[in-house]
Amino acid sequence: MQTEQFDVVVVGGGPGGSTAATLMARRGHRVLLLEKETFPRYQIGESLLPATVHGVCRLLGVEDEMQRAGFTVKRGGSFRWGVNPVPWNFLFALSPEISGPTSYAYQVERMKFDEILLRHAAASGVDVREQASVGEVVADEERVRGVRYIDASGEAHEVSARHVIDASGNRTRISGNVGGERVYSEHFKNLALFGYFEGGGRLPGPDSGNILCAAFDEGWIWYIPLSDTLTSVGAVIGRDRVHEIQGDQAARDRALRGFVDRCDIVRDLLDGATRVTTGTYGELRVRKDYSYANTRFWRPGMALVGDAACFIDPVFSTGVHLATYAGLLAARSVNSVLADELPEDRAFTEFEARYRREYGVFYEFLSAFYDMQSDEDGYFWKAKKVTAFDTSAMEAFVTLVGGVASGESALSGAAKTAERFAGSSRSLSDAVDATGDMTTASGERMNHLFGVPVVGDVMREMNQIQHRGVVGDATREAPLLPGGLVPTADGLAWTEHR
Ligand code: FAD
Repeated sequence: MQTEQFDVVVVGGGPGGSTAATLMARRGHRVLLLEKETFPRYQIGESLLPATVHGVCRLLGVEDEMQRAGFTVKRGGSFRWGVNPVPWNFLFALSPEISGPTSYAYQVERMKFDEILLRHAAASGVDVREQASVGEVVADEERVRGVRYIDASGEAHEVSARHVIDASGNRTRISGNVGGERVYSEHFKNLALFGYFEGGGRLPGPDSGNILCAAFDEGWIWYIPLSDTLTSVGAVIGRDRVHEIQGDQAARDRALRGFVDRCDIVRDLLDGATRVTTGTYGELRVRKDYSYANTRFWRPGMALVGDAACFIDPVFSTGVHLATYAGLLAARSVNSVLADELPEDRAFTEFEARYRREYGVFYEFLSAFYDMQSDEDGYFWKAKKVTAFDTSAMEAFVTLVGGVASGESALSGAAKTAERFAGSSRSLSDAVDATGDMTTASGERMNHLFGVPVVGDVMREMNQIQHRGVVGDATREAPLLPGGLVPTADGLAWTEHR
């Protein structure tokens, strides 16, 4: 068996692995990335967030390439959620007319996006090997010390490294080596059935690139415009309906058409469209989109990134964001340790704490959002009933979950937090026109959503990533967590806060 030595081995060349590998190679480390497929390869997860596009991608140095790729510009999301027949939108910018430089994301064909990131990793000095399937890690009681993999010709290899990053996705075979276990959420146990259509309609005007999420009786459907003519369409349903999507392609076709027929807005958009039936997009695929998190994200010598660590329901398109953000966090930790600037425990405790927090805030937000969707008398309407507000149900909901429904000024800390955040968002906005400026086309509903502290937290975090991407060093950040570390000026490592 051939044995080689690297500073770091990254397992998996998806967005999480490519991000981590590039940002470690950037600091001059010898990085090997092992990917079992040959790119381009298919993957689901096509709707990105601005923090990925303008934060991580800019740090990586691929933003120009992203622009040249001609991906659909996504200015926000459109939802047909609850009983209101009129879809409501959120826009990343305050209004489509005042779009700042980074108030958008992209809808991407993952075959293209993931390949851009992987080839860029190679161009940045990462030794990228495709058709290299990792079967196990090399470890002793003290730490993980490397991996074993099989190459395209079936030859076995062993690589020793000071750090192993597992970014091999939701079907990882090696994540258990950090200890702990994968714990599934009781909340989000859904199944997705998805395929692709040519010739589907588009939402009007500035919303035409939005992701559309439309609820129907049994679940919801995503409608993602990937090009002028190609659309990704997927139905998300509860696991109790698994029998409806089992069977061959013809059975899946009938099931998807049935769901689309029960979802007016998507049915109308697909009127006259043709389902793609050949090539990579010709297959109707099924994925469990159960949400989960490992109870540990690292142990000495190894860390989990992206779906290998955790996954949260796709409705707010957080998967690639979490994977690339975790890739950045892991790279900072490895870079700090390899430079002998921080002990491993200190650097990776920061990695796990920030990663878990990011996952946690989305989880909390999404839990509330799904409660709203759970039935047509769901959370929006319960909120409206219990508050008896003479407002839209959405406004009643966010006021309620913001904790200020009583109108007690002593309790309006959340609203004040929101105001403060709106201020800090604006101060960043000279450079970045914050992601946080989510609003409806009419400029009102989502401002109330800022009253929910958890949403402010997420947006602030995204702003910081974006800001560093745009202007290099952000003003020196305060630690995110008590006693925690802060990023270095270039954003690629950690340092103590002084
Ligand atoms: P992956 O993209 O899965 O990459 C892992 C890589 O590791 C793969 O290339 C794989 O070939 C390789 N690999 C696996 N095993 C090995 C091995 N043993 N050795 C070597 N290589 C290996 N996210 C969004 O951001 N937006 C969305 O709209 C969205 N929609 C989704 C819809 C559904 C139904 C689901 C299920 C998920 C969705 N996601 C979405 C989530 C998104 O797909 C993932 O979160 C994202 O792809 C995770 O990236 P990753 O780099 O962790 O893993």
